[in-house]
Amino acid sequence: MKTTVVGFPRIGENRELKAATESYFRGDSTQEALVGKGKQLKRMHWNLLKETGIHLIPSNDFSFYDTTLDTAVLLNIIPKRYQELKLSPLDTYFALARGYQGDAGDVTALPMKKWFNTNYHYLTPEFEKDTEVKLAGTKIFDEYTEAKELGIETRPVILGPFTLIKLAEFKDTTEQEHLAALIAAYKEIIRTLNEHTAQWLQLDEPYLVKDLSEADRELFLHIYHELTLEPRTIKLLLQTYFGDVRDIYGDILALNVEGIGLDFVEGKQTADLIAALGFPQNKQLFAGVVNGKNIWRNDYQQTADLLNVLPKEQVVLSTSCSLLHVPFSVEQEEFPLEVAQHFSFAKEKLTELTDLAVISSLSADASANERYKNNQVLFQKKRVIENQLLTHKIAGLAAEDFQRQPLFEERAVVQKQALSLPVLPTTTIGSFPQTREVKATRARFKKNQISQSDYREFLKEKIADCVAFQEEIGLDVLVHGEFERNDMVEYFGENLEGFLFSKNAWVQSYGTRCVKPPIIWGDVSRKRPITVDWSVFAQGLTTKPVKGMLTGPVTILNWSFPREDISIKESTLQIALAIQEEVLDLEANGIKIIQIDEAALREKLPLRKSDWYQEYLDWAIPAFRLVHSKVAPQTQIHTHMCYSEFADILPAIDQMDADVISFEASRSNLSLLDALNAHHFQTAVGPGVYDIHSPRVPSVAELEKTIKILLEKISVEKLWINPDCGLKTRGEKETFASLENLTRAAVQVREALVYETVRE
Ligand code: GLN
Ligand code: ZN
Repeated sequence: MKTTVVGFPRIGENRELKAATESYFRGDSTQEALVGKGKQLKRMHWNLLKETGIHLIPSNDFSFYDTTLDTAVLLNIIPKRYQELKLSPLDTYFALARGYQGDAGDVTALPMKKWFNTNYHYLTPEFEKDTEVKLAGTKIFDEYTEAKELGIETRPVILGPFTLIKLAEFKDTTEQEHLAALIAAYKEIIRTLNEHTAQWLQLDEPYLVKDLSEADRELFLHIYHELTLEPRTIKLLLQTYFGDVRDIYGDILALNVEGIGLDFVEGKQTADLIAALGFPQNKQLFAGVVNGKNIWRNDYQQTADLLNVLPKEQVVLSTSCSLLHVPFSVEQEEFPLEVAQHFSFAKEKLTELTDLAVISSLSADASANERYKNNQVLFQKKRVIENQLLTHKIAGLAAEDFQRQPLFEERAVVQKQALSLPVLPTTTIGSFPQTREVKATRARFKKNQISQSDYREFLKEKIADCVAFQEEIGLDVLVHGEFERNDMVEYFGENLEGFLFSKNAWVQSYGTRCVKPPIIWGDVSRKRPITVDWSVFAQGLTTKPVKGMLTGPVTILNWSFPREDISIKESTLQIALAIQEEVLDLEANGIKIIQIDEAALREKLPLRKSDWYQEYLDWAIPAFRLVHSKVAPQTQIHTHMCYSEFADILPAIDQMDADVISFEASRSNLSLLDALNAHHFQTAVGPGVYDIHSPRVPSVAELEKTIKILLEKISVEKLWINPDCGLKTRGEKETFASLENLTRAAVQVREALVYETVRE
């Protein structure tokens, strides 16, 4: 049996690509240096796959920022405003990714969105009326040639045209206007790779796992019919992932492609579809049996059983999705062997694939195989001891544990009195810039190079400065700045029972930004108060309210590697009870506003609408309610989300029963606001008024305009003014300037409102 992977992490074993790219952004290194680093990483990764014995090795899964953006740029889908900057190709690319402000002009970045149900983010391709779609680059060919020159035959990977269309934005134009040119450009890619004598091309079409309309189906079939008309020797692999393709399986079997990649991990119906409709003999089945998203070892017995019902001669063993979503290697970690043996990161998954190839080819009983035997030991007994008290507590939860009293409107009146905030209250999302100094000091503390008390003193100084700055510019609801936190999930995990932490298990989130998700190893409970000291210290420095800052249970779960031995719902309720204790402690210590971030709530929303409530929201929303159900009426609960694509789940968001919600709005369009009105959304809202993912400083005039636009849609009593996310990834200079402009803009709009009322 042959082996392959859908894609491999590109950031490097030690995040080398991040360092190289950021150095280039700072102007500390040249374009040549960055490109050279990229080449070195690609070579290392291709060699690793080859040496491990993977047969079919992907290329063009590398990227300096995002492969969706790579595809758009390759096809010349570059809005005019970026072309007009007249930057070098690489700098134009980075302008699309991050925005640009400098001598050449001033543009914001393309909107960034979550990649399906993952914590990876892609940049949204934007078609304009006069976008001339054509093959305009060589990256995909260059990478193929690069590998070839190293003696490695690779399978170039590209985002397929159907998913590209479905994810793209069409400004003042339609997909129909560009369809023919798009198909022609993909045809040219196929033709050119054919000339290069490449053996395979992988077309990623994850959109096929979503609910497809009849129009979607027709569009897809039309594109693939056209794409596969010309004679060629290169084989095409239609690759899907993140679910099953129940709406179109029968149709894709008839396509003129040589390989179909299916996900057997998240694709609940994949095996059934094959059982029911079969699999054509003239195609290869790229079977995604090794989980590309989680870090637990594959159960060889289970996988072997699955493979037994597939047409084995046609199977290429693969991962369920790109390994982009898991960290590099367990080798880097310092877990004791009893723990480490349960884990499999990207590098180890390669070995799992080669093991499985051997095991599934054994004609006789596999149980004599050493690797098979060692693997089975891991699954024969319970991995952790259960916290029975907690299990009972969860079993005993009743309806009132999930319902805050009194109801929203009554609370709103009490809070208005208690907090006496101005209209259009200004605030931030929580974190302030994590400067080099902050990071370096934390690193020194972690390495025991400075004492606990010195570290705490340092943090107190940072908090004091942060509070002073916020007072000075006149923000209304302050934050302590979250300097003590490396990461909004890891920090809580470290202070809860049941989590494990890696040293180096980084996963790319967007561009150069990586996250290091904790591993939920056992039952979760709170060991001690976590944030109370810091919040109380900050509150002691000011008479303005300082928000307590917590991460919600759904986000903690979604940004961790979850257990596979108990349900996700059970794990989330455990976390919710732990955070509830923290909420009540903050309240008892005088914190009047508590923000419980659910940055990742939408992330694990099933990709099919039909599964949304039953499989997810019906337990995720109650888990959030459980966290704050016991606070007093005057305590104001905020929540925050890093995106605005929730028009479709607004009732569920309102049912979280928070008092205020802030969310991203500046990068996406403001259509959400109409939806809020249509749904009579009760929660007060803080749509982000500027994009924090870019270093660009918004002007007062620009912010005033944004606020006024918001006021056309949202009543003045319900509107908060804030940036669209935490500020920790930003530099201090741009942050201070932006916030100063934000408060000024809010004050000016407020004054104008007073003036208008007086005139009326
Ligand atoms: N309170 C967190 C912060 O400001 C929220 C981060 C997030 O939404 N990703 O950093
Ligand atoms: Zn956010």
